[in-house]
Amino acid sequence: MTAIEFTPVHSIPKIVADSRATFLTHRTQSLEFRKQQLRALLRMLEENADDLTAAIKADLNRSADFEIPTCIRATKDFIDNLEKYTQNQKGTNVLDHDDSYVRLSPLGTVLVIGAWNFPIMLVLEPLAGALAAGNTVILKPSENSEHSAKLLTRLVEKYMDPTIVSIINGAVEETTVLLEQRFDHIIYTGNTMVGRIVMQAAAKHLTPVTLELGGKCPAIITSKADIAKAAQKIAGWKVANCGQICLTVDYILCPKDLQEPLIQTIIGTWQHMFGANIKDNKSYPKIINKRQHTRLEGLLKAVKAENKVVYGGNSDAENLYIEPTIVTEVSLKDTIMQDEIFGPILPIVTSESLAESINIINSGEHPLGLYLFSEDKHEVEEVLSKTRSGAAIVNDVASHFLNHSLPFGGVGNSGMGRYHGKYSIEAFSHQRAVMVRSSHL
Ligand code: NAD
Repeated sequence: MTAIEFTPVHSIPKIVADSRATFLTHRTQSLEFRKQQLRALLRMLEENADDLTAAIKADLNRSADFEIPTCIRATKDFIDNLEKYTQNQKGTNVLDHDDSYVRLSPLGTVLVIGAWNFPIMLVLEPLAGALAAGNTVILKPSENSEHSAKLLTRLVEKYMDPTIVSIINGAVEETTVLLEQRFDHIIYTGNTMVGRIVMQAAAKHLTPVTLELGGKCPAIITSKADIAKAAQKIAGWKVANCGQICLTVDYILCPKDLQEPLIQTIIGTWQHMFGANIKDNKSYPKIINKRQHTRLEGLLKAVKAENKVVYGGNSDAENLYIEPTIVTEVSLKDTIMQDEIFGPILPIVTSESLAESINIINSGEHPLGLYLFSEDKHEVEEVLSKTRSGAAIVNDVASHFLNHSLPFGGVGNSGMGRYHGKYSIEAFSHQRAVMVRSSHL
């Protein structure tokens, strides 16, 4: 494959200016026009499922079974529910003949900056929402997932109205110039450090932002949990996309006596999925690039030096392979507990009470997802009322992502703002107060 062609930096201001000018033609306002754009997006996804699958496979060596259907479902949801999602919300009238309501008005031109770990979905789901809300859109896929970025560029240029959706490719230099332009909203998915850069750039124009960031998502397992089920779910998510998922379980919190049964089931689940020799399994996903692989090898080196690896620990730079790994005797001061792992390494931190687990979570930044495995309603309430996180799931991992009636987003260091379903329409609209008063009064 030839390398992805970056957009010439000097052309970026005009692409954005043209997009802003198109918005001012008011073409994007009508619901029928928005549906036309969404139908084009749907055609693009449905007619190119094979190519999209191949691009994702080339970037990450995993299937697209989750990513493409999710984009299709989200786009169909906007087409089917656009009237409902965008309808005016009645207010209370002050005088008898007033008509007071909230109108969801498109913001203008939206910038979507995607990350590499779901290189299609993290660009196209925000795109669907921004189109449904009546905006023009500039897309900036991640340069790290270059097969996907390249294909997206070709497909967007072929299927989408070029005056409504534009695509810009590049790395830091191009994105820096892009962020100097004026947008009406920016949605960025990626790491927290760059999230700060995006927010600083947006502040110059007072542009609102949605920041979909990462963090360390904990899974608390209590003695009131179905231990085998908890272990199977955590094991599955830790190797899906090779642990390169913002919502994956970063670390486990459990009492010491649960550790051994958990470890055995987690290992059993991994071996059931990939066989005893995981390295030889062609369907085991890979780490995206050398830089991320080196970072993960650094984490492995640190835990190995302290003899904390109880399973796994091997890696192979040439094949971007990191073996699923379990780490025990973990202290909060360990390197592995400092930043989001974003790979298939699973530390277990022992904690003898729910109160201790809550304290540990509250001693760090607010995670994107918090998972509690317990059948006890009191424990659920205890965790929900004493912790903060983007989402909280009981007895599962990450499953709220697929429920588009729920908002998706972080809090604190894991992000700000939310999208999905009607929350996308709200994110990419201005809630405009309208009051119509009779001039006869
Ligand atoms: P990445 O390297 O693809 O970067 C994301 C985007 O930021 C890219 O488009 C890139 O070009 C741009 N970028 C990088 N440096 C920049 C700079 N200096 N200035 C402007 N733009 C810049 O992805 P990543 O950051 O490695 O993504 C992984 C992170 O994203 C993890 O922390 C993960 O948890 C998080 N994530 C969050 C979500 C979510 O929905 N909350 C989803 C996926 C990933």
